[in-house]
Amino acid sequence: MSDVIKLLPESIANQIAAGEVVQRPASVVKELMENAIDAGAQEITVIVKDAGKSLIQVTDNGNGMTETDARMSFERHATSKIEKSEDLFTIRTMGFRGEALASISAVAQVEMKSKPGEEELGTSITIDGSQFKGQHNISCKKGTSLIVKNLFFNVPARRNFLKSNPVELRHIMNEFHRLALAHPDKGLNFYQNDIEVYKLKQGKLSQRIVSLFGKNYQEQLVPCEEALEEVSLKGYIGKVNFVKKSRGEQFFFVNDRFIKSNYLNHAVVSAYEGLIPSGTFPFFVLFIEIGPKCIDVNVHPTKTEIKFEDERSVYSLIKMAVKKSLGSFNITPTLDFGVDTNFRMHMSAGSTSSGLSSSERDYSQFKNTERDISNLKNWEQLYAGALENETIEAEVKREMAAQGDPLSLTFESAINTMGEDIQQEGQSDKQNIFQFHLSYIVTTVKSGLMIIDQQSAHERIYYEKYLKILENNSGSSQQLLFPESINLNPSDSSLVKELEKEIKSVGFAFEYLGENTIVINGVPSLIKVDSGSGIFTGVLEDYKKNFLEYKNSNIENMARSMATNSGIKSGKKLSTEEMKSLIDHLFACKNPNHSPNGRLIYYIFGLEKIEDIFNVKP
Ligand code: ADP
Ligand code: MG
Repeated sequence: MSDVIKLLPESIANQIAAGEVVQRPASVVKELMENAIDAGAQEITVIVKDAGKSLIQVTDNGNGMTETDARMSFERHATSKIEKSEDLFTIRTMGFRGEALASISAVAQVEMKSKPGEEELGTSITIDGSQFKGQHNISCKKGTSLIVKNLFFNVPARRNFLKSNPVELRHIMNEFHRLALAHPDKGLNFYQNDIEVYKLKQGKLSQRIVSLFGKNYQEQLVPCEEALEEVSLKGYIGKVNFVKKSRGEQFFFVNDRFIKSNYLNHAVVSAYEGLIPSGTFPFFVLFIEIGPKCIDVNVHPTKTEIKFEDERSVYSLIKMAVKKSLGSFNITPTLDFGVDTNFRMHMSAGSTSSGLSSSERDYSQFKNTERDISNLKNWEQLYAGALENETIEAEVKREMAAQGDPLSLTFESAINTMGEDIQQEGQSDKQNIFQFHLSYIVTTVKSGLMIIDQQSAHERIYYEKYLKILENNSGSSQQLLFPESINLNPSDSSLVKELEKEIKSVGFAFEYLGENTIVINGVPSLIKVDSGSGIFTGVLEDYKKNFLEYKNSNIENMARSMATNSGIKSGKKLSTEEMKSLIDHLFACKNPNHSPNGRLIYYIFGLEKIEDIFNVKP
């Protein structure tokens, strides 16, 4: 048999390697911006067209490259950033693997122009899918400009795999946000299809956060700082009443490099425990400075994972710092314990608001960092009124009027014997239904005692309802007397464009007023009129979260987001009529057992089980 093993040609090897470094246009933006930062640029301009599918251009005023370096930079494992293996343990630059330019030029048409400050002339070099096309002298400004055209032009499978423009643009924005936060001392510009999206001046981190995410962030930021010998932490966290429904705005940087770490995330989240409703996420931008020797960034080609030598002490540093900042800033919103909360409460028995001792009500004690803040479970109550819901009764009536769907029909669900069960019990005693902890409905059924989680139940009802509406495109809308305008950040604005069909089909009526502003003229008839814009932004937040978590269709995610945002919440007082109506609707659902997010909706304590409890003899 003859020998069969051959070395792969350089171009194929590069293409294979590119698979790891270049996954989508956003990866190119990241790599090129990082190179610009490593080159000491003070000003970086990013231009993308077609969400980076046809063009990505990154221009910097950094150190530039000589003719030879420019040519060399496209070779695999060619880097100016490390020389020997020990250097791997003292890395301060963003790049060091020498893979990015080789990988990008293997899967795109690339043109680079570069000139070091002291040279008269610069150099221009063209490479197409790893094929060197030519190099010549040009006159250009100091710095480097890379133009990457038609990404994946020679890898059709990859090109076809790219998502829609709004999705790809969102990925690009995410990378841009990360780098913009890590380098507030650099001027950064971003253009998409010739439209200026960001023009960020050099400044402080707080200014950078505000110019990226919006003016309203200004009052919501709490500084956070703590230092130990080897590690230090600096940055901002969001106040407790400024939580989001998706994880999107949580940023960790280690030595200015954005990283993902569930473990460190947990440190922050646990410091917020008891202060924010479950299922919500605090905002944070935190920078960890640590000796390069104590970490290993070379874990993954995209370098978003790192290993710490002593992860635990970093964890406790973060948790301590966040707790301290939360405690030392006066972040107490006005208190009113009489009001029903609209957020889910997970209160342990005996910790109802009425059961609080006066000292527990004194939240000024919270300023004392020694105090165990996890006691303050009732903070959730402070969020009352965030999404006021009208009574189910009124809603059901209005809905029936709108859809000609008589309530009595809901009892006749063929698939559901449970409905009959309740009805029969209900006939013998009209009063055997009550609300418990403002969160659960308790009623008797033939087989025992049934406890229903009111929030999950209503989410299920709305979920199925919105699913139907979306499938039939049958959402009705109620006009707003005073249209409301909403400013969106650019990535949310592209999400709205992406979901325009679904948003409108559910019953929102809106128009664009400029690139990132929309005006809401009408809201779905199922929701309360004046909560319209709150629900709109809530739905966007939820959609992003659902998108990451469930990866379902747009319709499904939309129904889920609408249900969680417009359904009644734990903590809402319900009348007997409302409870009955809720039960009726629940057992008319296709799946009354679980909420759209998989939570159990009801539980029955079987009669036998109850009898067993009392039958135990000492
Ligand atoms: P790495 O960044 O890991 O070193 P790259 O492939 O991204 O690898 O870049 C290779 C080399 O090209 C870098 O080490 C650097 O010397 C040079 N280079 C790349 N981009 C720039 C730039 N914008 N300005 C100056 N030099 C650059
Ligand atoms: Mg690089």
